[in-house]
Amino acid sequence: MKSNRLRTWGAGVTALWRDRSLATRFLIVYLLLSVVTVVTLTWRSAAQVSRALEEEFEHELELQAFIIASALRSDMEDMMEERRSPADVLALLKQFARDTDSRITLLDRGLEVVFSTDPVVPPHKEHRHPEVVAALEGREQHDIRLDEWTDEKRLFVAAPVREEQHIIGLVQLSIPWSRVQAQIVRQWTTFVLTGFLAIIANVIVSLWLAYGVAHPLRQLTAAARRIAAGHLDQRIPVTSRDEVGTLAAAFNEMAEQLQEMIHKQHLFIANASHELRSPLTSITLRAEALLENPGMPPEMHRRFLQEVNREADRLRRLAERLLDLSRLQVRPESPVFQVVHLPPILDDALEMMIPRATRAGVQIQRAIPSHLPPVHGSPDDLSEVVVNLLDNALKHTPAGGKVTLGAQTRNDHVVITVSDTGEGIPAADLAHIFEPFYRVDKARSRRAGGSGLGLTIVKEIVEAHEGTVDVTSQVGVGTTFYVTLPRYRADTATAPVSPSQDDGGNPDAVQRPEP
Ligand code: ADP
Repeated sequence: MKSNRLRTWGAGVTALWRDRSLATRFLIVYLLLSVVTVVTLTWRSAAQVSRALEEEFEHELELQAFIIASALRSDMEDMMEERRSPADVLALLKQFARDTDSRITLLDRGLEVVFSTDPVVPPHKEHRHPEVVAALEGREQHDIRLDEWTDEKRLFVAAPVREEQHIIGLVQLSIPWSRVQAQIVRQWTTFVLTGFLAIIANVIVSLWLAYGVAHPLRQLTAAARRIAAGHLDQRIPVTSRDEVGTLAAAFNEMAEQLQEMIHKQHLFIANASHELRSPLTSITLRAEALLENPGMPPEMHRRFLQEVNREADRLRRLAERLLDLSRLQVRPESPVFQVVHLPPILDDALEMMIPRATRAGVQIQRAIPSHLPPVHGSPDDLSEVVVNLLDNALKHTPAGGKVTLGAQTRNDHVVITVSDTGEGIPAADLAHIFEPFYRVDKARSRRAGGSGLGLTIVKEIVEAHEGTVDVTSQVGVGTTFYVTLPRYRADTATAPVSPSQDDGGNPDAVQRPEP
């Protein structure tokens, strides 16, 4: 029952705590910690200082008792042998009492009061108190007690008056305890005031710190909400280089990339629509002409139909490329890759191109070594890379030219090269040819059936294989594309390995790389 109530209470506190803002929680924790620390420290230091003060008073009084006792030795002797009157000695003691602001009582060795500087202390009374008994026994001891004559608390010390080895009397010194306490209270007041000031300083610092953390986070939240509402140009001012500043900078970077990505997507959609529109317009115009002129001469009729067919074919190819690209851009976290032996793929692609090369009067060459290390990836996608590059090389190489497909091992990589002796690419265009829909000669490329997506697809595939694609070109001399892929290593490949298509699904074909 009790534990149930306790649990409900605990859950309530947790919920309340969770609902507080970060700044409030930070403030509460920081304040609690600082108050506990300051109070504990103040308490401990003040207690220590009080103890030290008490000891200092006791020590000081004991020292005075000893000084007075030794100063009194000859006077006491004289008094005992009646060479000096007790009134003289009392006057001397009163002088000492004034100097030390204390009460001095002289006792004989039988612990009986001889006289005291304070008239309230009656003479000839036995005075058996701890400090005098200790002094008689040669020890030092102080005592704090209620004074039997005045009923006030006093600090008492005593010292023996010696004549050579013999104790001839005792000097007792006392001061009111309130004097010690007044000093202690003064110290405590200073400590408590300092502690209070420290807590105030802590409140100010923690408010400032909480604001320093909460304010940029609030700005970040507001900016994130504005971005979510479509205002992609939102940025947060970066005012520090700490974690909060780094977070703001990372947020800005993310917003920047998001904005750029969305801009690219808009551009892509605009370009794709534009690419789709021209064959569609052409088809519509031809179809309208065919419908409106039933008596059209047969050759014209046939030519129009051929054109409709060609444009429809272009549309189909464009749709295929767009589908390809969208499939590649939705990259899975861990693609199902397998060990791929490149030579069969390169040879198949080359073979596919031979009829076209022959028709175009372009010589095609193979420069593939007998041994190439395997790579890790998708055979179909890698084949598409080589086919696209060879297709481009053939498209841009005039009759009499040469296209070479090569491959070589370089350190931990395999480099596939497709070079031609064609028209080349102007330096200004080289940086853009991998962008979607970018074409050096738009009209010519479109006529040749190009969509401007071939190299974009090549780049996407190669990057999905953790490789790179580069190009060098010289106008009028030729172009070379370099596809660099990391060679397969059993210990670094994490993706599941499925049987290769080339070997009819034989799992034995999954070979380990040679050492
Ligand atoms: P396309 O479908 O138009 O060929 P790509 O993305 O494959 O589109 O290529 C982009 C542009 O790069 C082409 O329009 C062409 O101008 C240029 N290009 C690509 N490969 C070659 C090459 N081997 N020689 C000359 N120009 C090339």
